[in-house]
Amino acid sequence: MSTILVFVEHQKNQIKRSSVELLQAAQKSGLKTCAVLFGTGVENLANSAAQNGAQEVHTFKSADFDQYNPEMFLAAMSDLLEKIKPSIVLSSASSLGKDLFPRLAARFQSGVASDCTELKIENGKVTAKKPLYSGKCFAETSFENSPIQFVLMRANQLPVSAANPSATTSAIDHTINKPDLKTIIQNVVKGASEKLDLTEANVIVSGGRGLKEAGNFKLLNDLADVLGATVGASRAVVDAGWVSHGMQVGQTGKTVAPTLYIAVGLSGAIQHLAGMSGSKVIVAINNDPQAPIFQKATYGIVGDLFEVVPKLTEEFKKVLNK
Ligand SMILES: Cc1cc2nc3c(=O)[nH]c(=O)nc-3n(C[C@H](O)[C@H](O)[C@H](O)COP(=O)(O)OP(=O)(O)OC[C@H]3O[C@@H](n4cnc5c(N)ncnc54)[C@H](O)[C@@H]3O)c2cc1C
Repeated sequence: MSTILVFVEHQKNQIKRSSVELLQAAQKSGLKTCAVLFGTGVENLANSAAQNGAQEVHTFKSADFDQYNPEMFLAAMSDLLEKIKPSIVLSSASSLGKDLFPRLAARFQSGVASDCTELKIENGKVTAKKPLYSGKCFAETSFENSPIQFVLMRANQLPVSAANPSATTSAIDHTINKPDLKTIIQNVVKGASEKLDLTEANVIVSGGRGLKEAGNFKLLNDLADVLGATVGASRAVVDAGWVSHGMQVGQTGKTVAPTLYIAVGLSGAIQHLAGMSGSKVIVAINNDPQAPIFQKATYGIVGDLFEVVPKLTEEFKKVLNK
């Protein structure tokens, strides 16, 4: 039977939702589903991987893998692929995935379908859909003459159902001979936020130039705290220095696909829409009824954000008992 391998990313001793999506999709393919995890303590996540569909869990639990180093990960993944010979490898289209898998695909003379939003696996063959030209059209991608089909999926695109609590497995651990590294990561400076990264977030509250000044992002932070949301922004306010570039949504920022995207005081320029039009429900708050964001919005509130947002925060507090 062919094998499908899922590259599992994790955070705070939990498998990320984006990887759970991939494990469950892999299981549904009917192929033998394997998972691979990196870093100290990952053996404790083996059961969680099994509960979401992995029949075999591989780990590289050396501390050398606690931080991403492309050369280390490339060496480890190359070894593993030689051993288990998967026909399909799935990963999230995270920055790590986008860095590692093209390197790996080149080594295995294979192709990569990156940034995919739909995935179909039939008789071991992948067909994946991906947006092109900032979402103006879609391409259906399949593989020819590619020994391994590497597919990088955007987060929040595939359904997740309840895990099977009774599944268990023990991890098969691997080690590698450390390659002569050309680059060494000396220090990783983490952002101050404890919130989920925009690309992983299920709810996003995003602000634009309508907020008038940096300090007014407090209104969005208050709303986001009540909703358990992550705060995003348009490029206009990033360029103005109000918030960091890590918060930018759009063509030259992050691509997000939450269940709920609340766009506050942003016009909905095509470059912004390119990054968020995959959101399931879009709520726009803008005082200009002609603002283009309303054409994309599921629900629109025409009004002054300085009145609407505090009221929403108050109402959500009551409903959610916060
Ligand atoms: C190559 C390129 C790449 C780009 N990449 C990106 C990108 O990745 N992401 C991105 O966002 N942009 C990007 N842009 C910029 C983009 O074209 C827009 O300029 C930008 O998105 C506008 O930001 P904004 O909506 O915050 O500001 P504006 O367009 O100025 O919109 C502000 C909105 O706030 C509303 N408003 C004002 N006051 C209130 C109030 N009191 N209450 C309610 N509403 C109010 C206004 O009606 C208006 O619609 C890119 C541009 C280029 C050329």
